[in-house]
Amino acid sequence: MIENLPLRKIIHIDMDAFYASVEQLDNPDLRGKAIAVGGSSQRGVVSAASYEARKFGVKSAMSSVIAKRNCPHLIFVKPRFERYREISQRIREIFFEYTDLVEPLSLDEAYLDVTENKKGNPSASLIAKEIRGKIKKKTGLNASAGISVNKFIAKIASDFNKPNGQKTVNPEEVEEFLEILDIRKFHGVGKVTAEKMYMLGIFTGKDLKQKSQEYLTEKFGKSGAHYYNVVRGIHLSEVKPNRIRKSLGAERTFNENISSEIFMLERLENIAEEIERRLIKSNVAGKTITLKIKYSDFTLQTRSKTISFYVSSKELILENAKELLYQEKMKNSVRLLGISLSNLNTDKNEKKPEGVKKVEVQLKFEF
Ligand SMILES: [Mg+2]
Repeated sequence: MIENLPLRKIIHIDMDAFYASVEQLDNPDLRGKAIAVGGSSQRGVVSAASYEARKFGVKSAMSSVIAKRNCPHLIFVKPRFERYREISQRIREIFFEYTDLVEPLSLDEAYLDVTENKKGNPSASLIAKEIRGKIKKKTGLNASAGISVNKFIAKIASDFNKPNGQKTVNPEEVEEFLEILDIRKFHGVGKVTAEKMYMLGIFTGKDLKQKSQEYLTEKFGKSGAHYYNVVRGIHLSEVKPNRIRKSLGAERTFNENISSEIFMLERLENIAEEIERRLIKSNVAGKTITLKIKYSDFTLQTRSKTISFYVSSKELILENAKELLYQEKMKNSVRLLGISLSNLNTDKNEKKPEGVKKVEVQLKFEF
C-alpha cells in the first residue's frame, strides 16, 4: 500500500515532562523529586508531572486532589508560562535550522517535515538525534522523537522510547509496526473509542485492518475512514507551519436538559476553565466571545459580543458569557452550552504555509 504514496520524512519532537522539567531545571531543590505543575487547590488540575511523580501514578489532566492522594509527598509548583514560552521559542529556532516546515502542536511538541532539509541530510533519524542534542545543549532539557513516513506514525513513535529517546519506523517497517500496535496507542483513539473497538473484537492494528471501510464508517462515522487509512500507513495530512487558528471553544452536552440558570452558570464556569487552559497552551487570546445554546428541541442559538481588548482568563471569559446568558430569557430547557473565542490575536506576520513538494517515489528510500 505504502509504496504507492509519496514518501515523506516526518519527525515528531516531544519534550519530556516539559513544564515539570523546566521547573526542575530552574530550581535545583526540585530535582529528583515528585513534582506537579498546577494548582494544589480543591479544584486544581495537574498540568504536568515529573517522572518521579509519574511513578506514583500522577498524570497530567488529573485532579490535584487525586494526585496528592496517589503521591502524598507530591510538591505542587505554580506554572510559569512566560518561561515555558521563552524556552519553546528557543527550541523552535533549532527546528528552523533544519526546515521551515515546522508545525507546533503546543509549547512542547512539533512536527517537522525534513524530506528536503536545509542541511541536505538524507537521514531523518540522524537529524532527530542532532536536534535532540542541540535542545539538550541549549536548554538543558530532554526531548524524545518519533521518525516515520507520516505525522500519525511519527507521533506514536515518539512515545516509544520516552524519556530521552527516539524511535524510527522505516517505510518497510510501517506495516508490521501498525499491525502489532495496541489499538489504544492509535492517536485519536480515546478511552471510549477503545472500549467500542474492544466490543467489536478490535484489539490491535491487525484486527482493525480486517474490517472493511464500510463497516468502520458504519460503526465510527467519519472517523471510520480515518482508521481504515491510518492502519494501512496512509495519512496524507501535511506538516502545516503556523496553523492559523480562527477560533477556540469548548462545549458540553448534558445528560439531562437543564432549565436553571444557576446550573447553567456552573457549567459555563467549567467550560471557561477548559478554554483558559487551551488558550494558554496555544498562546492566544480573543476579542469576541460567543455563547452557543442548544435547546431541548434541538434549536440552536448563538449570542456574541466583541470587546475592545483581548481576553484569555477564565474570569473574563465567564463574566462575558454570563452577560450573554442573561441577555435574553431562555426559550426552553437547554441540552448543550458552549463558549467560543474568536477574533484571535494570532500573529498575522507569520509565514504562510507552503505546500509540501512531492517526492519522487524511490525504490530504496534512505531514512
Ligand atoms: Mg511532552
